[in-house]
Amino acid sequence: MWSPILRCKPLILESKELSAPFYQRRRAALQEKIVHAGLDALLVTHPVNIRYLAGFTGTSATVLVTPDGFDFLTDFRYRGQAFDQVSDAVIHEYRDPMKTIAKLLSERNVKTLGFEAEKVSVAKAKEMKEKFSGVKLEDTLQMCEEVRLRKDEPEIEATKRLAGMLAEVYPRTVELIRPGAVERDVALELEYLLQKAGADGPAFDFIVASGERSALPHGVASSKKISAGDMTTLDWGAKGWGYHTDNTRSIAVTSVNDEMKNVYSIVLEANLAGIDAVKPGVRVNDIDKVVRDIVVEAGYGEAFGHGTGHGVGLDIHEKPSVSWRDNTVLEEGMIITIEPGIYLSGKGGVRIEDLVLVTAGSCEVLTSAVPKEFMIY
Ligand code: ZN
Ligand code: ZN
Repeated sequence: MWSPILRCKPLILESKELSAPFYQRRRAALQEKIVHAGLDALLVTHPVNIRYLAGFTGTSATVLVTPDGFDFLTDFRYRGQAFDQVSDAVIHEYRDPMKTIAKLLSERNVKTLGFEAEKVSVAKAKEMKEKFSGVKLEDTLQMCEEVRLRKDEPEIEATKRLAGMLAEVYPRTVELIRPGAVERDVALELEYLLQKAGADGPAFDFIVASGERSALPHGVASSKKISAGDMTTLDWGAKGWGYHTDNTRSIAVTSVNDEMKNVYSIVLEANLAGIDAVKPGVRVNDIDKVVRDIVVEAGYGEAFGHGTGHGVGLDIHEKPSVSWRDNTVLEEGMIITIEPGIYLSGKGGVRIEDLVLVTAGSCEVLTSAVPKEFMIY
């Protein structure tokens, strides 16, 4: 349970010394992949991956990972910050990044260089081919992202802290989501309250979708006023230390018709069955099937058009995709959402989303302190 006292305890991610061994382990896991892929090095340019490997929060840097080395390159604006934040690395300052990297590739005897093909523009890739003479460039996909699949202790700690903020603020949501309240005002107020609770900001643009708008799976808060009798869906999350949380609750405002009440019970049943199925060794497409079967059997299959969930971490949506398209096997340390929904055009909808950590034998619901039983507020 969330306690304000816990907020005073510093996180591992807030200490360079305490977090250093975790960065080392992440790098070692990536280095293993680099060797396995037959590369001499990987050039990491995606800022989120750089943060994951080095704890650096600036926006301009490049990392060269070799099987036994870690070179960190940045410009003069971030030099001091790099020395403050990055441990166990050779830190270089560049004026002309391409030139400095080319020189380093030669010093490190790199003949085959992987680069993050999904994050490098066609123009940049062309420039690298021209400037890194004698180096064979290879496209790589998801190398660092695959290491990111399993969260380590500091990541789980940060996510739990953020989930605690949602639980702390939630009681206020039911006071805010009242007849006459404007959806956007509700979203703004919640962002403010989460930041007061310690978040850096919202994890994404909050969805506050009331009445017929709750049938929009991505109904970002609008200027609509909430009315009595509206089913109102709130999809929100806190962001901090680079990490995200994601949670959805549907709230019946003063009253709701029997159809919506029934839809709520089906979605809740699907959410609980999905959570029940989460444990190491299970494929995510099988989790999706467990959840979807309940909705389909209740006759609402067509009204559940999206996947069951997704990974959450340094990105709000990351691997795996908990859907029929993905057959990733769950492993301890993965953090995913379970978020079935039923959307009835012209009537309204319900989604119930929890953030779930895969543990050694089963799972832990990180958003369990945000109530989800059907209630009319
Ligand atoms: Zn969400
Ligand atoms: Zn989500």
